[in-house]
Amino acid sequence: MRCRNCGRKGYIHLPYLKEHLCKKCFVRMVERRIRLNLRKSLLSGDEDRVSIVDNNNAATVVCKHYLPKVFGEMYGSKLMVGKRRGYKLFACRSLEGECVSFFRSILLNKPYKRVLNPTMNLPQRELEEYCKIKDLRFERQLLDSDVLAFLRELEDARPGAMFGTIKAVNNLDNRLC
Ligand SMILES: [Zn+2]
Repeated sequence: MRCRNCGRKGYIHLPYLKEHLCKKCFVRMVERRIRLNLRKSLLSGDEDRVSIVDNNNAATVVCKHYLPKVFGEMYGSKLMVGKRRGYKLFACRSLEGECVSFFRSILLNKPYKRVLNPTMNLPQRELEEYCKIKDLRFERQLLDSDVLAFLRELEDARPGAMFGTIKAVNNLDNRLC
């Protein structure tokens, strides 16, 4: 199959788009999605001082690789790693990680805490593929397997259901959770 953007050899199939992308267009799509998340919901202005929770899950590894470039070029600032006083804190996790956290709070009646997540709409598989292409090492994130199984079933029945969840979560008022 060919890449839907440029016609080169397809590298990855994205079931929710029913399309293939080549390596180059796939990397561009991942990075574009992160930049949009920053602009649309995570950053308020160029005065933002940001640090990132440090671990080696694929989402964090992708952000540690890509965000310094964005921050330098777009905001003229540096991204710090690890918690810092007075800094906005990003916690990076995959789309599945985000959805599991949300549904766990509903299904198990746990308090839900939203985090600032630049990779909220990037599936685990895509984050891992990005790491492979860029030769970045990561550790697989362990998620609640029951909730994840529930989500996978939902996603199979209705492709795009997890994206819908994230959109709904973003529209929720924190106080309601
Ligand atoms: Zn392409």
